[in-house]
Amino acid sequence: MGFLSQAIEQQAEAALVSAARSGEVSFLCIRCDRVSTDPEGVKASLCGTCRKWIAAVRLYPLPLIWVLAVFNGPFVAGTLAALSWKRIGDIRKAQIVVVQLVACLAGLLFYGPFAFLPPVTLGGLLWLFVTAAVIGYATAGLGPLLTAHRSAGGRQGNFIMPVLVALALAAPGLWIWYSAITAIIWGG
Ligand SMILES: [Zn+2]
Repeated sequence: MGFLSQAIEQQAEAALVSAARSGEVSFLCIRCDRVSTDPEGVKASLCGTCRKWIAAVRLYPLPLIWVLAVFNGPFVAGTLAALSWKRIGDIRKAQIVVVQLVACLAGLLFYGPFAFLPPVTLGGLLWLFVTAAVIGYATAGLGPLLTAHRSAGGRQGNFIMPVLVALALAAPGLWIWYSAITAIIWGG
């Protein structure tokens, strides 16, 4: 069943590409909204200009952004989303995300280092809700662009740096947990 549907999908894709090649298919470019008949751009829904350009930028995958959001709060995840928007060329969306992250700083002052850890308490769940709202907005509309980016052969941004920053931010919270737990166990 899986093979069959995959074969049908490939067939449909091939038909679309060959139709585009003969000039029968036109589509709207998802970035610049212009009508294009570029046969190479059908799969990614990008015109020739936007395809070359999006393939040259590095973007971060959505799962990485969401994992960072759940385990590390909105800051690193939101920064990756804002960076992606900036690289895609939507400076306004990038700016709005940054403004929301600045608003989250108030939450950081309230929750302290625990803001960078997964939610474990009722307060933590509230923080998770705030994080989900901010990252939900920050990643809305990013999916199709990332798919187009992948089809156009674009490369992913570097994972190592954001993950290291996330771990560094979580370190003070982890240390407080560690000392609290050892104090309970050893009665110190
Ligand atoms: Zn375009």
